[in-house]
Amino acid sequence: MSDGFDSAPPSDQDVYDITIVGAGPTGLFAAFYAGLREMKTKIIEALPEPGGQLAVLYPEKLIYDVPGHSKIMAKDLVAALVDQCALFEPTYVYEQRIDDLRQIEVQGESVWALQNHHEMHYSRTVLIGGGIGAFVPNRLDVPGAAEFENRGLHYFVKDKRPFRGKRILVVGGGDTAVDWCLNLRDWASDITLIHRRDGFRAHEASLAELQASPIDVMTFWQLESVRGNGDGELAQVTIQESRSGETRDLDVDAVLINIGFKAALGPITDWGLELADKRHIRVDGFMETNLPGIFAAGDIAAVEGSEPLNLIVTGFAQAAIAANAARQRVDPKARLFPGHSSELRL
Ligand SMILES: Cc1cc2nc3c(=O)[nH]c(=O)nc-3n(C[C@H](O)[C@H](O)[C@H](O)COP(=O)(O)OP(=O)(O)OC[C@H]3O[C@@H](n4cnc5c(N)ncnc54)[C@H](O)[C@@H]3O)c2cc1C
Repeated sequence: MSDGFDSAPPSDQDVYDITIVGAGPTGLFAAFYAGLREMKTKIIEALPEPGGQLAVLYPEKLIYDVPGHSKIMAKDLVAALVDQCALFEPTYVYEQRIDDLRQIEVQGESVWALQNHHEMHYSRTVLIGGGIGAFVPNRLDVPGAAEFENRGLHYFVKDKRPFRGKRILVVGGGDTAVDWCLNLRDWASDITLIHRRDGFRAHEASLAELQASPIDVMTFWQLESVRGNGDGELAQVTIQESRSGETRDLDVDAVLINIGFKAALGPITDWGLELADKRHIRVDGFMETNLPGIFAAGDIAAVEGSEPLNLIVTGFAQAAIAANAARQRVDPKARLFPGHSSELRL
């Protein structure tokens, strides 16, 4: 059976100068620098959105140690980073976890092939900005959930339009669940939020807004099962009160589950990279790994002779070093120093 690496032969048009694995703050800033160095850039992210830990774990928290900002909300920093690299129009690929990496020949040139079960990607250099690993949403293992996933039951909202005029059940008690309730309230015909506890982990201001809204908030209730109608469309759920065991059936058109994420480095550790420990890839002072042309930066990187300092600002500096060093790998005549951006007219 083909492993995908020997299928359709790529042309040099398919080969990027740099492919960045992970759209966390490190990957996004690396994309900006790679663009500044006129590299054809692709960013591949396991999730359907950019931002890494900032988007998934603390979107509504204020960050106080980003240079030039006395404080900035995590989701605003992500939006600003995306905006900053938009200038160079990098190619984004979402919802793909890179599972394998190896060197191949494309029209006589040795390039890196990155594989996932959807697609192959080809690149002269690779920057791994994988942070603490690829994020996947926690899924609910209740009858009907897998059957209706992406057919009425969702773990992400990629597009609000399918929710227009719908009766929605939202499950969860964190920022994401509460934010989507608020975001969809004027869009949906009716929203019910259930949470298995009475303590919410969402931002206080959002909770106040939720309480003042017509959204039906039911604490100590959890999802028991999901069912369809005769046409196979999601139509009804059963929910259960966790203390009394009482159950209720609700007629709904859509279910949105926001109950957190888990991250796993997964296959990255099998790519032949020298590891500093189970969570970190060993890199030199140019952020290059033991494999030529493969760089790592941010939370996933451990610089030889130093210790990881897992902060956004460290990732930014490492991203700049890695992208400029990658430029030299692509063109050995290029200078490492990019020049001052203040000299440019962008
Ligand atoms: C609650 C909390 C608060 C924090 N507060 C601060 C703070 O105030 N200041 C500060 O400086 N730092 C803070 N941090 C740390 C900061 O968030 C991290 O240092 C930063 O997110 C690291 O960025 P990164 O881009 O290296 O990795 P990440 O943010 O982890 O992003 C990595 C991305 O790579 C993707 N990915 C991984 N593997 C693959 C794969 N194989 N294929 C495709 N995609 C992949 C992941 O899905 C993820 O989106 C905080 C962290 C937490 C958890």
